[in-house]
Amino acid sequence: MSSMSNVEPQNLHVIFFPMIGHGHMIPMLDIAKLFSSHQVKTTIVTTPRNAPTFTKPLESYRNVGPKIDIEIIPFPSKETSLPEGVENFEYATSPQLVAKLWKATLLLQKPLKEVLEKYKPNCLIADKLFPFATEVAAEFNIPRLVFHGTGFFSLCALDAITKFEPHKSIISDEEEFVIPHLPHEIKLTRLKLPQHIRENNNNNNNNNELVEFLKSAVESEAKSYGVIVNSFYELEQDYADHYRKVMGRRAWHIGPVSLCNKENEAKFYRGKDSSIDEHDCLRWLDSKKESSVMYVCFGTLSMFSTSQLREIAMGLEASGQEFIWVVKGSKDNETEEWLPKKGLIIRGWAPQVLILDHKSIGGFVTHCGWNSILEAVSCGIPMVTWPIFSEQFYNEKLVTEILRIGVGVGAKEWKRTVDANVKSEDIHEAIRRVMVGDEALEMRSKAKKLKQKARLAIDVGGSSYSDLSSLIHQLRSYHLTQ
Ligand code: UDP
Repeated sequence: MSSMSNVEPQNLHVIFFPMIGHGHMIPMLDIAKLFSSHQVKTTIVTTPRNAPTFTKPLESYRNVGPKIDIEIIPFPSKETSLPEGVENFEYATSPQLVAKLWKATLLLQKPLKEVLEKYKPNCLIADKLFPFATEVAAEFNIPRLVFHGTGFFSLCALDAITKFEPHKSIISDEEEFVIPHLPHEIKLTRLKLPQHIRENNNNNNNNNELVEFLKSAVESEAKSYGVIVNSFYELEQDYADHYRKVMGRRAWHIGPVSLCNKENEAKFYRGKDSSIDEHDCLRWLDSKKESSVMYVCFGTLSMFSTSQLREIAMGLEASGQEFIWVVKGSKDNETEEWLPKKGLIIRGWAPQVLILDHKSIGGFVTHCGWNSILEAVSCGIPMVTWPIFSEQFYNEKLVTEILRIGVGVGAKEWKRTVDANVKSEDIHEAIRRVMVGDEALEMRSKAKKLKQKARLAIDVGGSSYSDLSSLIHQLRSYHLTQ
């Protein structure tokens, strides 16, 4: 019957199945590293064009850490008529491409089954966005764990909004409502909610499909063995408790997972090839005063209009602070006359963790992607928060109102493309508050304390280390306790 009746430590084999977006693949690789450091055999399943995100950093990791295997499955480009190369949400620049990519991810079910058939592993850790994963794992009589790319607070906020629908009892999109039954009084507006929740429009086919997809992901999660959260208890204790005790979820917090990267090389190569040389980058940072540089980066999926980029450039220049600005492509930025004359501009991909961990960094203008927030917390860096879409508006609340290590830039609306709705004066003012004066010092001191707690959490005996150990222990005896 089972492949796992009494698994010896070295024989526990876990398959990792990450979603095809860097914000999910990068932490999944770190999670695989953490499992393998606990003597677990690990295999990551991915598609051809996403493979370098795993294989490249593993080239150097092989010299310092245990082996991690990569299994490549075909990507259904033809079946979904996706253009060649669009194999990651980063390249899905239109709603049509996004919809096709969702369809493609569903077609990964068959090749995933074949991998499980081939390896007969003991556990499947799959992204929350694979609604078929729990059933597939059940066919092989193994537990499926869900990986959520986000933290406890946003999981609790989303659950409360879905369950109690507070946004439906207000009149205007800008009116504030309290997210019900959370440990703190947190207010939002309808404008800050994801479009599919806000519109709730039954005539909108695209949204209907997305809503159905997300619903099946939630159902799949409810039937799963439990949830792995990239967070640490001391960061969002009230919400880790709420998630388990009030929402009744089985969860293990094992983060911040990026802290498993100790060497500069591992911090440098995360996700993609950096668009700047490691030594040039460090030399530039070394030449700046301690805590004097603002790092500006909006993750992997954010899109800005040229007029918004211009506002950012003006805001940065007016702040008078040193800065590094990571500029991804925008829709119509051919001329680029808006680029600031000062600062270090990185076009493309930045070695974010290496940069944040440098002593000259004093602040981070972030879109509030969960990885970015955790990476900032792990390095003791206060933030200017500029949420754009996804669950980023919830994450902003955690940073600015609960942890109090950040200042909002004043983003008001959940939107895929940011279109000059944040003015340079507001950017400048938020940067000033995070970099200069007593408020800035207070935030920095709080952030530094969290940095220490983050590092303690993943050390032997720390809260995340212990939760991971206990999860692995439970997985080893899974079939004995069923
Ligand atoms: N990242 C990076 N360099 C870049 C942009 C992003 O290393 O130029 C990394 C960043 O460190 C983080 C991830 O990509 O680990 C982005 O994840 P996040 O959750 O912050 O945002 P998303 O891209 O998923 O919106």
